[in-house]
Amino acid sequence: MPLRCDLHLHSCLSPCGDDQMTPANIAGFAKLAGLDLIALTDHNAAENLPAIQRACDAYGLRLLPGIEMNTAEEIHLLCYLPTVDAALSLSAEIRHRLPLVPCEEKVFGTQIVMDEEDRELERVQPLLVSGCGMGLEEAAARCRALGGIPVPAHIDRESYSVLSVLGIMPEQPVFEAVELRDPQKMEGLLAAGRIAPGYELLTGSDAHCLEEIAARPHLLGENSVLWPLVRGRGQGKIA
Ligand SMILES: [Zn+2]
Ligand SMILES: [Zn+2]
Repeated sequence: MPLRCDLHLHSCLSPCGDDQMTPANIAGFAKLAGLDLIALTDHNAAENLPAIQRACDAYGLRLLPGIEMNTAEEIHLLCYLPTVDAALSLSAEIRHRLPLVPCEEKVFGTQIVMDEEDRELERVQPLLVSGCGMGLEEAAARCRALGGIPVPAHIDRESYSVLSVLGIMPEQPVFEAVELRDPQKMEGLLAAGRIAPGYELLTGSDAHCLEEIAARPHLLGENSVLWPLVRGRGQGKIA
């Protein structure tokens, strides 16, 4: 049975994420929306994953741990990881490479780490939406070294995407899947020669507020490149 997923979500840890995007609220809304699995993919950070893992466990939802890296080229790269600990390791590596630009809350918003009962634990200081010091190749390699799968984000967007920055999909690093906001745009990208055929197409809501959760649900089946990461996660084994 394919899983009904939202593979791209931001919590209140992302400065652009609404303060209502708390771990418990996200899990609750996702459950109400009929999702089986969610991926939390905050910008350059993973500190809200432990809380959302517990919230997902409480709601009987599966969690795919993730981070949306912003590379040195200002390309958004979704990194899906096998465990929360692996995501926290990648988050720590990124933190060492982030420029020390403070998060001016009035300008950028807040970056809040919470527990599973939506209590504030801390506010992260360096601005998380900055380009981190890792280029696309290194970012993808660090994700893979931790057992993860890197996926270029929203390649059909006019900013912060691999196609808007590089023009075409690079041959290196190798990716098996790409994310599109609108999967129907793939045909045009193929016809224009900006991408070769053969990539698995993923989509997600890129929700920054509760109302956007599950706006673009994705059905994930056992042929997906992400299946080895989601198989066995959450409550009980996936048949
Ligand atoms: Zn993005
Ligand atoms: Zn995003």
